[in-house]
Amino acid sequence: MTNTFDLVIIGGGILGTSISYFLSFLNKSKQIAVVDQARSVAFHTSGRNTGKVHAPYLYDPERKKIFAKAAFHGYEMWEEYANLKKLPFKKDGVIEVSLEEKGTKVLEKYLKWGKQNGLQDKDIKLIEKNELKKIEPEIKCESALYVYKDGSADYSKFTDSLMRDSTENGIKFLLNSKVTDIKNVDGKWKIILNKQQEIVANYIINAAGGEAIDIAHKIGIAEKFTDVHFRGEYWKTPKEYHNLTKTSVYSVPEYPDYPFLDPHWIIRVDGGCEIGPNAVPVFSPYGYNKIENIKEFIPKMLEMLRSGARKTIFDKQFQELAINEIRSSMSKSVMINRVKRFLPKIDTGKITEKGTAGIRSSVIDENGKFVPDVIFKNNSMSFHILNYNSPGATGALPFSAFIVNRLNKQGMFESESSDAQCGPWKFSKIIEKLAL
Ligand SMILES: Cc1cc2nc3c(=O)[nH]c(=O)nc-3n(C[C@H](O)[C@H](O)[C@H](O)COP(=O)(O)OP(=O)(O)OC[C@H]3O[C@@H](n4cnc5c(N)ncnc54)[C@H](O)[C@@H]3O)c2cc1C
Repeated sequence: MTNTFDLVIIGGGILGTSISYFLSFLNKSKQIAVVDQARSVAFHTSGRNTGKVHAPYLYDPERKKIFAKAAFHGYEMWEEYANLKKLPFKKDGVIEVSLEEKGTKVLEKYLKWGKQNGLQDKDIKLIEKNELKKIEPEIKCESALYVYKDGSADYSKFTDSLMRDSTENGIKFLLNSKVTDIKNVDGKWKIILNKQQEIVANYIINAAGGEAIDIAHKIGIAEKFTDVHFRGEYWKTPKEYHNLTKTSVYSVPEYPDYPFLDPHWIIRVDGGCEIGPNAVPVFSPYGYNKIENIKEFIPKMLEMLRSGARKTIFDKQFQELAINEIRSSMSKSVMINRVKRFLPKIDTGKITEKGTAGIRSSVIDENGKFVPDVIFKNNSMSFHILNYNSPGATGALPFSAFIVNRLNKQGMFESESSDAQCGPWKFSKIIEKLAL
C-alpha cells in the first residue's frame, strides 16, 4: 500500500465521505485517502442521529446561511441518491408544535425563515389547533407548523454507499486508523496512525467531527476555540405507539439559545418510533458510557477551565440546563414527560428500551458563547471544518460540493474538470444552485 497521498481527509463521517465522493469524480489522478479510527464509516454522530432530512425552517437565513442553503438542496439530492441506489427515504413531514400562545409567534418566524430559505407555500403551512386535531387527533398544542417537505432516511446507509462510490473511483479508506499525531516536516504532513504507522500527505482536510477542534489544535489552528460535548439519548417506544401520529413532532424550543434541548417524537424511516434526543453534557466526543467519561473528565475539565468554556461552565442558565439534562438522563420519566406535554397518551411505564445515543460537539468561542454556524479555518496546507452540527447530515452533499469548489477556486487542489458528472449530478449545477 502506498503511504504518500496528495490529500488526506481526516474523518469518515457523512461529511468527510461526501467530500471524498465529489473529489473522486473531479480529481481522478490524485492520490486521496480518508482516515477514520472506527471500523466503519458513519460509526459516530453520522450513524447515531435522528435520521431526519430537515427542511430549512429552523435556520435563520442570515446566521445559518450555509446550513440553510445546504439543507434546502440536500433534501432533493438525498431523495435522488436514495432512488438511484435503492436506499430508504420517506417524505413523511414533520409538525412543529407550540404549547403556549406565545410560541405561535415563534412558528410565524419559522414560517418566514422557511420561505426565505426556499420553501414554497405547498411545503410549509401554519395550522391552528382545531384544524390539527382533525389530522392528528392525539397531539395537544396551541398551534402548529406543518412542514410537508421533511423526510426520514438512514444516514449510515447513505455514507456507506458514498464510500463504495468513492472507492470505485480510486479513493482509499483507511479504517481502524486513529490519527494520533501530525507534524509538518519539510513542507509535508507526517501523519501518525495508531501511534505507529506513518503516512505522508501534501494537504489535509479536517472533517473529524467531535475531534475536529483537537486536530486543529494539534497544528496550531483555531486555538481560541474549544468545544463541549452533549450526549443525545433516545427511548424506543413499543409497537402499539407506532401509529400514534402520522408524522414526527417537534416542539418550539423552550430555550432558543439551546435549540437542541427539547426531545421530539420521532418516526424513523423503518417505521419505529422514538423519543429523544436530550443533551447531557459529557467529557468526550465518544462519551457513550461511564468508563470513557471518567477517563476524559480531568483532561476535558482542565481544557475547559483554560479556555472560553470557563465562562460557560460558570453561567447560571447553562448550569441549570445542564442539571436538567443530567436529570433527564438519570430518570426516564423526566425525559418522556417533556414529550407527554404534546402527546399525553404516552404511558411512561410501557417504554423500556433505550435507543442508540449520539454525541453533538458544540464549539465555544473565547467569550464562552456557543458559535451558531460552521467555522472554516485554513492555512496553506490544511482546511478545517469545525462546529459542523445539525442539520449537518441533511446538507452534507451540497455542503461538501461547496467546500471542494472553494478549495479548487483557491488553487489548493486544482480540479481536473469542474464540470464533471458526479453520479446523478453535474458538479457545476450544484455550485450554481448554492450561489453563496
Ligand atoms: C443527537 C443528534 C441528532 C441529530 N439529528 C440530525 C438529523 O435528524 N438530521 C440531520 O441532518 N442532522 C442531525 N444531526 C447532526 C448530524 O448528525 C451531524 O451534523 C453530522 O453527522 C456530522 O457529520 P461529521 O462527518 O462531521 O461527523 P462524525 O459523524 O462525527 O464523523 C467524524 C469522524 O471523524 C472520525 N475521527 C475523529 N477524530 C479522528 C482521529 N483522530 N483519527 C481518525 N478518525 C477520527 C470519527 O471516528 C468520526 O467517524 C444530529 C446530531 C446529533 C448529535
